[in-house]
Amino acid sequence: PPARMQVALARGAYDILIGPGLLRRAGAEIAQRVEGRRAVVVSDAAVGPLHLPALREGLADGGIQLAAEILVPPGEASKSFAEFERVVDAILSARADRRLVVIALGGGVVGDLAGFAAASVLRGLPFVQCPTTLLAQVDSSVGGKTGINTSHGKNLVGAFHQPRLVLADTATLTTLPPRELRAGWAEVAKHGLLQGPLWDWCEANGAAAMQGDAAALTHAVLESCRLKAGVVAEDEFESKAEGGRALLNLGHTFGHALEAECGYGGELLHGEAVAVGLGLAAEISARMGLCSQEWPGRVREHLREVGLPARIATLPRVFSATRLIARMKADKKAREGAMRFVLLRGAGECFTDSSVQEDAVRRLLVD
Ligand code: NAD
Ligand code: ZN
Repeated sequence: PPARMQVALARGAYDILIGPGLLRRAGAEIAQRVEGRRAVVVSDAAVGPLHLPALREGLADGGIQLAAEILVPPGEASKSFAEFERVVDAILSARADRRLVVIALGGGVVGDLAGFAAASVLRGLPFVQCPTTLLAQVDSSVGGKTGINTSHGKNLVGAFHQPRLVLADTATLTTLPPRELRAGWAEVAKHGLLQGPLWDWCEANGAAAMQGDAAALTHAVLESCRLKAGVVAEDEFESKAEGGRALLNLGHTFGHALEAECGYGGELLHGEAVAVGLGLAAEISARMGLCSQEWPGRVREHLREVGLPARIATLPRVFSATRLIARMKADKKAREGAMRFVLLRGAGECFTDSSVQEDAVRRLLVD
């Protein structure tokens, strides 16, 4: 049987199911949780050929009629107004009523795009996430954030729209390119640092997970979802100034700046940028005397072991500290131009902070 857990929110709860072969049971699981018996699937052109057949069978077995299949081009560029319009149009063409279920089958790109379409059509259709990347299974499919990118920046247009169900079929990870699997691990490591015991587990099991060990991957997804669900339950709409969802930004202030400098064309994956960000967050925490000096080394050693970059100097490009700092000050999570970091006293002891001095950040980035 799959692992099962719940995200408990003020206006209801939803299940996350985790395990191999869940796509084949999608229809039965969905039918238990929604009124409608018609669905549209949104996927991308790389994932569709690999995993749509199992989902089609699963839906048919559960008595869910597939009204349309919508495939977008793989990649970040599909989180655009143009693809949003295409997806919305295809959903409406499938004779949408409020009971039509929108199913996202793919990584975070498909989940964010399909989720925003589901939030928008008729002001909200029931939405089901079938995440197929490690990143999407441990992070983006849980929490209800959906959206697209604009010329002003990433994820600036979107909606909170919680799924009715998340089906994390861990068997889909076997077709994921290894580099994408590793990138997803950065978010697992982040969750480990936020949670505490999960960090020790990551150190002991990360390498096996990256070799495709199914039990290790299932555990990583389950514990990540548990951590994220807890954070989301206490701060569904990211309204807390301190703590809450902002903690999930560990490693991301640096990560977003590195990512933005590289563009979103695949030179540096989000998870790779976050990995470097985790290393930097540990380093600056140690320099500020918040955690012991062993932490930065421990974090970097783990990231190296799972094949992720841990230092700016190992990235195949030179970054300007001035430009990175400007990016961090302009981050949508910065407050009045003050860079906002998540710092650590140790694993399981992280907190948000806007008082880090610019000079300290500059020294960190040039060392
Ligand atoms: P992605 O969706 O682009 O997937 C990465 C690549 O893997 C794509 O080329 C895709 O076609 C391919 N792929 C996906 N599943 C596969 C499989 N099982 N087998 C083979 N290939 C497969 O990227 P991602 O890393 O999953 O997600 C990144 C996106 O997630 C970003 O846009 C980011 O902003 C978003 N995100 C959202 C949240 C949130 O809370 N909503 C959180 C974190 C990230
Ligand atoms: Zn992230």
